[in-house]
Amino acid sequence: MKVLNFGSLNLDYTYKVSHIVREGETILANDVSMNLGGKGFNQSVALARAGISCYHAGLVGEEGLEFYDACETFGIKTDYIKTVTGRCGHTVIQVDDNGQNSIVLFGGANLKNSKEYVDEVLKNFDTGDIILLQNEINELPYIIDQAFAKGMTIVFNPSPYDDRLEECDLGKVSVFVLNETEGQQMTGMTTPATIVAALDAFFSNARIMLTLGEGGCIYHHGDEELYQPAFSVKAVDTTAAGDTFTGYFVAGLCRKQPMREILLTASKAAALTVTKPGAAQSIPFMSEVELFNND
Ligand code: ADP
Repeated sequence: MKVLNFGSLNLDYTYKVSHIVREGETILANDVSMNLGGKGFNQSVALARAGISCYHAGLVGEEGLEFYDACETFGIKTDYIKTVTGRCGHTVIQVDDNGQNSIVLFGGANLKNSKEYVDEVLKNFDTGDIILLQNEINELPYIIDQAFAKGMTIVFNPSPYDDRLEECDLGKVSVFVLNETEGQQMTGMTTPATIVAALDAFFSNARIMLTLGEGGCIYHHGDEELYQPAFSVKAVDTTAAGDTFTGYFVAGLCRKQPMREILLTASKAAALTVTKPGAAQSIPFMSEVELFNND
């Protein structure tokens, strides 16, 4: 069984500033750093660190060539990553002295997927293979339709949630992995129990994995419902908690582990991520997760 993550590849530029720049104002940044990111990239890193070397598909612009080497180093297969003319997807992040941030996201190459490229990638996958998707790329409705027609297992993280998702046939999704905010946006419900019930009513065949931050997570499928509390840790930076959880969760699915075990491992991994600053670099290796004993 192969795993394909068709997702975003972003260059994240983070500027340390005394305050978030105001309208009409010019300020000096005290520091700048550039990291490779995007929900797609982070989730491929999480899969790799969980021991599953997935194929990543996605587009980079001309200044994004370092993604190839970085992915290889992380253990992510780059066969289907492609370079297109124009700019990479990127973010401009300001972080002020109080840790507050503001972010400008430019979709760039992530929004240049074509049906031809999707076909070119998917022709290498078959029934029973897993495809992982988030909502930071274009052509999602087509990818979902084609992956479903092939009999692939579609795992969908509807993040960030927006109106474009209404164009997707989400009835074709096998597994939803989403946080509470996305659950509220998708269903209009406000509590974990009512979100799960509404998702189950809309998508009765799908497995539902709802994460609740410090509140843990709920897994629901048919008559089965499991709750896993979050592990108590000193939170430093919650960035990539959800991406870590998703990557480890999909890794557990690939290994066909019992769902209880999957939830435990994914929750430990995500808890470790929040103890470190940054995104991809804060995602733990399986060896660290196995050593983590906080229960
Ligand atoms: P997202 O990062 O997508 O918003 P969540 O905030 O729901 O997703 O977090 C995903 C998972 O990460 C949670 O189900 C939990 O297991 C873990 N997690 C998140 N925040 C914390 C925290 N402060 N302490 C421990 N675990 C956390």
